[in-house]
Amino acid sequence: MQKAFFVFAIVALNASIATAQAPEPKKLDWDSITKEAQQTLQDYLRINTTNPPGNEIKGALFLKNILEKEGFQVQIMDTAELGAGRANLYTRLKGNGSKKAIALVHHIDVVPATASYWDVDPFSGTVKDGYIWGRGALDMKGEGIAHLMAMIALKRAGVQLNRDIVFIANSDEESGSTGALMFVRNHPDLLKDVEYLVTEGGDNLVENGTLKYFGVGVSEKRTFWQKVTVKGVPSHGSRPTKLNPVPRLVAALNKIANYETPLHVTPGVDKFFRDISRMYPEPRKTWLSNVTAGLKNPKAKEWILSNVYWNAILRNTISLTGLTGSNKTNVIPPEATAEIDIRLLPDQNPVDMLATLQKIVGDTAVHFQRLIEPKAPLESPTNSDFVKAVERAAHDRDPNVFVTTPMLTGATDRPIYQKVGIKAYGLDPFKVESSDAQRGVHGNNERISLENVGFGVRYMYDILRYAQ
Ligand SMILES: [Zn+2]
Repeated sequence: MQKAFFVFAIVALNASIATAQAPEPKKLDWDSITKEAQQTLQDYLRINTTNPPGNEIKGALFLKNILEKEGFQVQIMDTAELGAGRANLYTRLKGNGSKKAIALVHHIDVVPATASYWDVDPFSGTVKDGYIWGRGALDMKGEGIAHLMAMIALKRAGVQLNRDIVFIANSDEESGSTGALMFVRNHPDLLKDVEYLVTEGGDNLVENGTLKYFGVGVSEKRTFWQKVTVKGVPSHGSRPTKLNPVPRLVAALNKIANYETPLHVTPGVDKFFRDISRMYPEPRKTWLSNVTAGLKNPKAKEWILSNVYWNAILRNTISLTGLTGSNKTNVIPPEATAEIDIRLLPDQNPVDMLATLQKIVGDTAVHFQRLIEPKAPLESPTNSDFVKAVERAAHDRDPNVFVTTPMLTGATDRPIYQKVGIKAYGLDPFKVESSDAQRGVHGNNERISLENVGFGVRYMYDILRYAQ
């Protein structure tokens, strides 16, 4: 009895200390926050920020208006450097500063949409069949609204924060990344206390309505596009010559097409395969649980590499894409060119890759020209407080679903921020059916379910709380 009383007294004392230090967060009406988030996303999708030209300033002013109503001090910035109609946006929710900040970053721009291929106007924000439709619903205005509403909810609830929450909306992610580049260059002071950064690039896997895993992206491949040129002497097609650049280019491309890049397992990818191995029966489970060993078994190797995503995260990849020779059948052209989409694993050296290609081609008349400067390598830690917060929030939602670290084969602005010392992660706050993502992102009929919008805001809210 006495003992019980003693325990009760301690609990009561602890509770009163906790109350004195941190007032209980106010209870939030999640139904109304969900409705608000859905409406805000519809409105955001109606702002046409197709890049080019971007016109991101319209999106930035839209966000500014919402944030100012909630009492945030908002800066619209970098307009002079980014050019007409373009801007970055920055604001911050202050914590007590005992830990470093978390930045939520999304891009305001979207890729072009061809209305004739869509079932609805891509800039209407239409609600149909339980979905909000529009260019940017998934990539990535939807996530931007999840960031926005989660941060607003933290403020409204009065949650005590050890870490400031930084909110950034960038221009031009879909083209030259000038928004993120300008932000990092012009405002190092605003980023100097940021420890973690969250943006796109860590998809959750949903297949046939079942959530297979929650993703937190720790790495991405490096884009290393090349233009290949062979010069020749123009003449009439009726008299073939050895100075026709087209067959010489074709011979070089044939060698590149037949070249198999070596397999290479990076730390995040090794963990990814180990994590997902539990989803497979034997012997596949064993093959994936140690993928380096698995790839030495010819049968396992064939099966693993038949998955185009798995193949792409296990090696540097080369896709021959653009090709031009003559624009007239009877003219031998002065030059022939090709474009090659090369994607490097994060720890691979672009200079070595180029040397390898030149060696394989073995023809000094074939010139390689870099089309894109590869971004810094991205490989963020898999065991940080941020990843633990994602694991906890995911576990709350479904204790049977695990969290893993898929590598992104595409590119995001993460490496630009990571270069200034921030641990950058990719997070998808939604549970989007993989066929919907495959079709909608950069494709047609991009959409997100109404239910997912509510899910995403609350998932982000919990991750931000748990990462304190
Ligand atoms: Zn994107």
